[in-house]
Amino acid sequence: MEFQGHRLTELVSPEEIKERINKLGEEISKKFEGEIPIFIGVLNGSFIFMADLVRALSIDCEMDFIKVSSYSGTKSTGSVHLLKDLSADISGRHVILVEDIVDSGITIKFIRDRFLVSDPASLSVVSLLFKPEIADIDFEIDYVGFEIPPEFVVGYGLDNDQKIRHLKGIYRLEQ
Ligand code: 5GP
Repeated sequence: MEFQGHRLTELVSPEEIKERINKLGEEISKKFEGEIPIFIGVLNGSFIFMADLVRALSIDCEMDFIKVSSYSGTKSTGSVHLLKDLSADISGRHVILVEDIVDSGITIKFIRDRFLVSDPASLSVVSLLFKPEIADIDFEIDYVGFEIPPEFVVGYGLDNDQKIRHLKGIYRLEQ
């Protein structure tokens, strides 16, 4: 399809996203039954996923956000900068880190290491998308929405130079 001059090919439809997030919400609710975990969204990309994921939960939870920057345009710069730190104290808490996508894994590794210093009761990672062919990580992503090929994708929170985040599905951006 075409959107504002971009050529896009659908990888995951809005219906598939909804169905998968409902399943993730069920699984996470079951795992953390009786607890009040704190969900931490990684801005900006995870804001739509986070909003839908927490509304698929049957347990109570708290939320906070962290903002990092590692990308400029469609290429990773390889280094991660902290732009907005957590407001909440996560020591002794069940923390669920919410990412839009794990690509090289550099961002998630940086944030995870940072959080582990605060000694949370547990630290789980949920990522809507995962590129298994290029991710270089030595820990499990506890909950993955969809595994995708190593291509640049947009929509459902994921941007192209800060734009087209608000598309309802996930699309490959054709060059
Ligand atoms: P990583 O550090 O794992 O290489 O990249 C993580 C961050 O880069 C993600 O949170 C996301 O903001 C951005 N990113 C990685 N792959 C893509 C992609 O295919 N599309 C978009 N729009 N952003 C991506």
